[in-house]
Amino acid sequence: ALSASGLRALRYAREVEGIGQVVALDNDKGAVEACQRNIKFNGSVACSKVDLDPYGSPSVFLDSAVQSVVDGGMLMCTATDMAVLCGGNGEVCYSKYGSYPLRGKYCHEMALRILLACIESHANRYKRYIVPVLSVQMDFYVRVFVRIYTSASAMKNTPLKLSYVYQCTGCDAFHLQPIGRTVSKNTSVRYLPGFAPVVPQECSHCQKKFNMGGPIWSAPIHDQEWVTNILSDVKSMKDRYPAYDRISAVLTTISEELPDVPLFLSLHNLCATLKCTSPSAVIFRSAVINAGYRISGTHVNPLGLKSDAPMEVIWDIMRCWVKNHPVKAQPADQPGSVILAKEPVLQANFARAVASLSKAQAKKVARFLPNPERHWGPKLRAGRQITSKHISLLGEEKVNGCLSHQDSELDAKRQKIEKLEDAPAES
Ligand SMILES: [Zn+2]
Repeated sequence: ALSASGLRALRYAREVEGIGQVVALDNDKGAVEACQRNIKFNGSVACSKVDLDPYGSPSVFLDSAVQSVVDGGMLMCTATDMAVLCGGNGEVCYSKYGSYPLRGKYCHEMALRILLACIESHANRYKRYIVPVLSVQMDFYVRVFVRIYTSASAMKNTPLKLSYVYQCTGCDAFHLQPIGRTVSKNTSVRYLPGFAPVVPQECSHCQKKFNMGGPIWSAPIHDQEWVTNILSDVKSMKDRYPAYDRISAVLTTISEELPDVPLFLSLHNLCATLKCTSPSAVIFRSAVINAGYRISGTHVNPLGLKSDAPMEVIWDIMRCWVKNHPVKAQPADQPGSVILAKEPVLQANFARAVASLSKAQAKKVARFLPNPERHWGPKLRAGRQITSKHISLLGEEKVNGCLSHQDSELDAKRQKIEKLEDAPAES
């Protein structure tokens, strides 16, 4: 722990069963280096778990932290500098993390993936690589749990797990540009640079140019099996978790995220681009499933949707929606007008698909809980809170439930929701 108060270290020691020794460090720059020196000096092996939880950016600690974990051990890392990672000033993020952020709706997931790419690059310098176990964006921070392994040969796969991101400046389309690829010949594997570019100069949907961000970690950010196991552990010890509702809500949503689809679209933004009314999330999900593709939610944004459907299919679905829900004429050079000028190739089927509800919705588990207090925390972004205008997306019952819940919470004891990992029984 890198904690000024040492509170978390105390909690680890008191509450986590089977824990050996907890080393708490002061919140100063050389803390991790000091830890490492001590470890070497005492002749003991490196830590099986290192929890890096500085105030602000962890970037200056990463080089030491990736060396301090035993082979197969866990590095937990928090970053609270969301303004940097979600980038109004992309160059600051680049200097700290070696990646350019983009300001899409998915920026909080991109923040997680920039942090993971950064940890990986530090690990690679010591012939090590990471395997993400759980990556969470909550409130005003991101937190990742990664295992670190040592293997010079496995490290060659790193370029396959990293991608640049092309974000269209006119519409919602984004595309991933993998850094590396492999070619298998007989029994040998050759590592080559990725084929490029994956996009033309101008967006094929709206004719605008692209911004390029990244590189980001584009491999899975969770170990879904681990998440499922933790979720059932948490459920079986419900009483021991003061923040049970919050933890189970986040883990349930994470367990349903499509693991192989980086970033996501916002149905809200798709409709804003076309200036049309929004289909309900269930109707939109159904159309994607009926077209033969997968779709899921994301824990970082209640309105976000992950799908492996190509952007052409997404726009065709929206074109079909607009045919039945016409929009007012817009200037012809607007991205929305350019998109709608094309006839859909696919005939969207909006009939409700069985799989369109998430498992959590089907089981009526709250997937997103409102903040404990209104205007909670340091920098609540406008639009992050669920409001009545989201009724069309989430359903009236759900939103009303959230809003009234929020009001009653205001009067209730102002109990601070603890960070997910502050709860006991981490594996
Ligand atoms: Zn576009």
